[in-house]
Amino acid sequence: MTSMNFDDIQDLEQAFQSGNLPPLLVLPGSIPVLVSAPHAVTHWRDGREKNADLYTGALALWLHAQTGCAVLAAGQSRNADGNHDPASISPYKQELARILQDDPVKVVLDLHGAKASQPFDVELGTGPGWEGKSPLVQKARLCFLTQGFNPEKIWSDRLFSAAKTETVTRFCIRDLKVPALQLEINRKYRDPDNPENLAMLLNALKDLVISCA
Ligand SMILES: [Zn+2]
Repeated sequence: MTSMNFDDIQDLEQAFQSGNLPPLLVLPGSIPVLVSAPHAVTHWRDGREKNADLYTGALALWLHAQTGCAVLAAGQSRNADGNHDPASISPYKQELARILQDDPVKVVLDLHGAKASQPFDVELGTGPGWEGKSPLVQKARLCFLTQGFNPEKIWSDRLFSAAKTETVTRFCIRDLKVPALQLEINRKYRDPDNPENLAMLLNALKDLVISCA
């Protein structure tokens, strides 16, 4: 898709990095899919500052505009990590639980960013050990393959399985009984200076959201 406007992505990302958004950004959906971006801004895990997963918030808002999916994203840096803290002390997980109680969400897609040095382009994390047999993994893999991603670089449950800590994916599946998938996206694809890669990513994510609805 050559008509994609990457200025939009830059502007959306600028909003996240400006510090002017509410602590939690919630956008209701018109389709039963929720895209989550708990690391869209700088966050804190066990007292240690962790860099934002750049562009994951922008991707979530772009997907909302394109598909009508619901969105939950961290909008402001807080002493918290929505993808790590137990639900009892996590405003992010408590808000997620509230949304999923009120809205008919069928699938949660949790977006994350991996360093450019990671050996995969995208890793799909299934949470509590489906080991690649999850129908969501098959669906996501197909969406990425269709956009030209290298099949060898679409990983699942190898480095980031979403099962080891209190991840959003695990929380959704285990506690909220809603199917969920964690997507760790290599920085090489979250980069408006690499428009070809970014277009592949945007198209794959958009197809995935639509196919989950
Ligand atoms: Zn992350």
